[in-house]
Amino acid sequence: MYSTLLVRYGEISLKGNNRSYFEDKLLANMRRVLGDLAALRMHKTYGRVFVDLKGIDAEVVAERLKKVFGIVSMSPAVSTPLDLEAIKKAALEVLMESPGTTFKVQAQRPNKRFPLTSPELNQVLGAYLLTHTPNQRVDVHHPDRVVHVEIRDEGAYVYSRIIPGPGGLPVGVTGRALLLISGGIDSPVAGFLGMKRGLELTGLHFYSFPFTSERSKEKVIDLCRVLAGYGGSIRLVIAPFTEIQKAIRRNCPEEFYVTIMRRMMFRIARAVAEREGALALLTGESLGQVASQTLHSMAVINRVVELPVLRPLVAWDKSEIIDLARSIGTYDISIRPYEDCCTLFVPKHPATKPRLERVEAAESKLAVSELLKDCLENLEILTLYPDDLS
Ligand code: ATP
Ligand code: MG
Repeated sequence: MYSTLLVRYGEISLKGNNRSYFEDKLLANMRRVLGDLAALRMHKTYGRVFVDLKGIDAEVVAERLKKVFGIVSMSPAVSTPLDLEAIKKAALEVLMESPGTTFKVQAQRPNKRFPLTSPELNQVLGAYLLTHTPNQRVDVHHPDRVVHVEIRDEGAYVYSRIIPGPGGLPVGVTGRALLLISGGIDSPVAGFLGMKRGLELTGLHFYSFPFTSERSKEKVIDLCRVLAGYGGSIRLVIAPFTEIQKAIRRNCPEEFYVTIMRRMMFRIARAVAEREGALALLTGESLGQVASQTLHSMAVINRVVELPVLRPLVAWDKSEIIDLARSIGTYDISIRPYEDCCTLFVPKHPATKPRLERVEAAESKLAVSELLKDCLENLEILTLYPDDLS
């Protein structure tokens, strides 16, 4: 019965001159997830995109668009010519489709050439619906459903249901960030939140073969595929980290293993970010969660990069992170039992308040630039697409 899916976007219409850039990204991202539904057509007007369904089920289309950031809400709509009789029939269809005993009509008339005003339309359509339905009442304050009617230049749209979208900003509009992604629970969630604010991601994973198995790499690949479902595709850079970890073990005091390891990660990340055109690093750190995530540790680790380090989970409790991980589909992958390079490298008494001078002194025993060079010459790069579309 529905011929159109009306898609609303919010924040992006506030961005002044950048608006059409934002809208173009949104439309491109919508086209990408709808790709194989070839018959669909789209056009946009202020604050709305109309998807012409051409017989395809509105539910199928709406379900896919729930993964496109920037969309605030969607409504399956019946479109009609600008003819009162046709609009009445559509209003009746829409009303009967949703259960309830009370309703109100809410008309909008951006097209001022239509002969009836919005209040007149509300009245005429309300009266029509009352006489053509048994046991229905009008309730203007708390109706079970609202029958919306939009009178536009090209025709009228009638709808009642409002399906929430994911909100946020279209992926790609705020730039590229480099996501440091482990196989853990937190970093994929941080990646999701970055994408929700419009970031395009490159992933960077440190891999310590044979301390960690091929399976743990698969896990990260699978996590990136889930994230790609929200943004099209993700380049994943896999950095060999074994030699660096061995060198740290051989040369540095145990209490600084983690601090120095993370400084090495950030140094590599800085170089990869530059190659990838990423303007920031993105991590799953949460303040106080483990020894390397105290403010003292973060300060010492941060010294090696001048790029902004975005930590969207900084104030989140683990239980909140887990809830979101479940709802976006990364949790079950993250809890697969394969070891991560960090879990193999946890000293008994890590420094929670490392002093910069002492860390720098310990680090001077490492051949930092050779280790970095070796790692950066042996990167593996993959491009990952969502599972369900590839
Ligand atoms: P996560 O659940 O994301 O693994 P975590 O709570 O285990 O986080 P840490 O192990 O201290 O915390 O890691 C903190 C952050 O450092 C991670 O969120 C991630 O951004 C990055 N990180 C840790 N290990 C790796 C790795 N092997 N490759 C890439 N990034 C990593
Ligand atoms: Mg971890």
